Amino acid sequence: MDERAFYNESQTVKAAELTCPFCRTPSKHDLRWLVRRKKDRLPGNANSEDRMKFQKAQSYMVLLDDKAACKNLRCRKRFDITGIKTMAFLAEGLPKEE
Ligand SMILES: [Zn+2]
Repeated sequence: MDERAFYNESQTVKAAELTCPFCRTPSKHDLRWLVRRKKDRLPGNANSEDRMKFQKAQSYMVLLDDKAACKNLRCRKRFDITGIKTMAFLAEGLPKEE
């Protein structure tokens, strides 16, 4: 069973402060994340190996964007997003998405 069957996928946007490597201007950027929220229970066709994997699975999110555009109007270069975590586990009790 594909690991993706364990999760409900959605997307979210979070602001992150990034510094442009060209002009050194820091600014807030809205970055897109793919959210994989673990399902309450396994799909019916799961086997015992799937069940073991499912037990260990955790909700997490991964960064979808790999580039950002500088917001300094005199620069506006695109640069690679670095220096931030590109994957994060979602702790229990995180606000439910609307
Ligand atoms: Zn810049």
